[in-house]
Amino acid sequence: MTSTPNREGTAPVTSAQRILVLNSGSSSVKYQLLDMRDHSRLAVGLVERIGEQTSRLVHSPLTDGGEKRERTGPIADHEAALKAVAEELARDGLGLDSPELAAIGHRVVHGGLKFSAPTVITEEVMAEIERLVPVAPLHNPANITGIRTAQALRPDLPQVAVFDTAFHTTMPESAARYAIDVETADAHRIRRYGFHGTSHAFVSRETAKLLGKDPSEVNVIVLHLGNGASATAVRGGACVDTSMGLTPLEGLVMGTRSGDIDPAVTFHLERVAGMSTDEIDVLLNKKSGLVGLCGDNDMREIRRRIDEGDQRALLAFEIYIHRLRKYIGAYYAVLGRVDAVVFTAGVGENAAPVRAAAIAGLEELGLVVDADLNAVRSDAARLISPEYARVAVAVVPTDEELEIARQTYALVNA
Ligand code: ADP
Repeated sequence: MTSTPNREGTAPVTSAQRILVLNSGSSSVKYQLLDMRDHSRLAVGLVERIGEQTSRLVHSPLTDGGEKRERTGPIADHEAALKAVAEELARDGLGLDSPELAAIGHRVVHGGLKFSAPTVITEEVMAEIERLVPVAPLHNPANITGIRTAQALRPDLPQVAVFDTAFHTTMPESAARYAIDVETADAHRIRRYGFHGTSHAFVSRETAKLLGKDPSEVNVIVLHLGNGASATAVRGGACVDTSMGLTPLEGLVMGTRSGDIDPAVTFHLERVAGMSTDEIDVLLNKKSGLVGLCGDNDMREIRRRIDEGDQRALLAFEIYIHRLRKYIGAYYAVLGRVDAVVFTAGVGENAAPVRAAAIAGLEELGLVVDADLNAVRSDAARLISPEYARVAVAVVPTDEELEIARQTYALVNA
């Protein structure tokens, strides 16, 4: 704990109020520096194509007079990337050596069952994140590299892991277990973990706020529709079911992922189509979903094609909506009573036709979308259902970085 205690017991102290949030992917690092006194952003940025000749760093200071800067050229690895980020921050007087930096919060994709809350990173925590690599082979190694690099830059600073899976650890066994042989499942940690948990936690809480209620009083179905997509049933602030499973492949139709399929499709692809396991992995994760169905995964482009009469784009849209409606119905039944259905992330926040189609004809469930409210473009959390509707339908922009910063800050000040 590095933050200075508030000796006056009144206004927040001025030092150690900043949190750096790092989201390290396999070839990218996204970052935000936040001031936790007012949750303002001091800087945001991204390094992409790490390890290639064409790496790019885009840095935007958000302080007065700051201007967006871009660097291109090879950035060899995560260490070099984070050093470059540190240099850019230092140019704005926001360097990582600043005593005002309270902690670094890391997005960690897979926390298994062990991590149900944000956790100060120790060597034991690192060992556990490492042990989870077999269930998150694409994500956890990149997260580990990000943490190690940040530790090397500021060994004295608390580093906190905020897990994508944490919010879902409240799922009952009936929702979390697959109906397969228990010994085999347990030996290989096969169960439903769920992802996007930081977003589902943030959005379900903000929805309660929008309804003027405490999270413990409301049941919410959250539809996180980005390029990856997942639905969650939240009862009284706790997740009771979610659509992603052992990996982010299960559930809704996504930009490039199939979501639910009969697992026998994979045997068929292997035995009849002669595909290898790796090829099937790529097919289902990268070449399926909207892109597999119509060649585009951007909902804007799909809507444009539909407007031009493109039948493949229309069918892709219909399959996407059909799956979404099935999950809304399923989670309605799981919850029994629903106070709000809420849309978030790139598609959920922006694509009014998706929201309208997902809710159309569900009046008997108390679900109605007001066409005028749905058409409004806004960055604010808002209701799109008419006043008379029994169940609220809402759009609530997600903010995973703010949630990671909040959780990190709360932990280091506990
Ligand atoms: P990620 O899962 O990569 O974090 P986002 O939540 O940013 O994704 O969502 C990205 C997706 O949001 C895009 O692929 C696109 O389909 C969709 N999207 C973004 N803006 C709009 C818009 N104005 N209208 C419709 N869809 C949009």
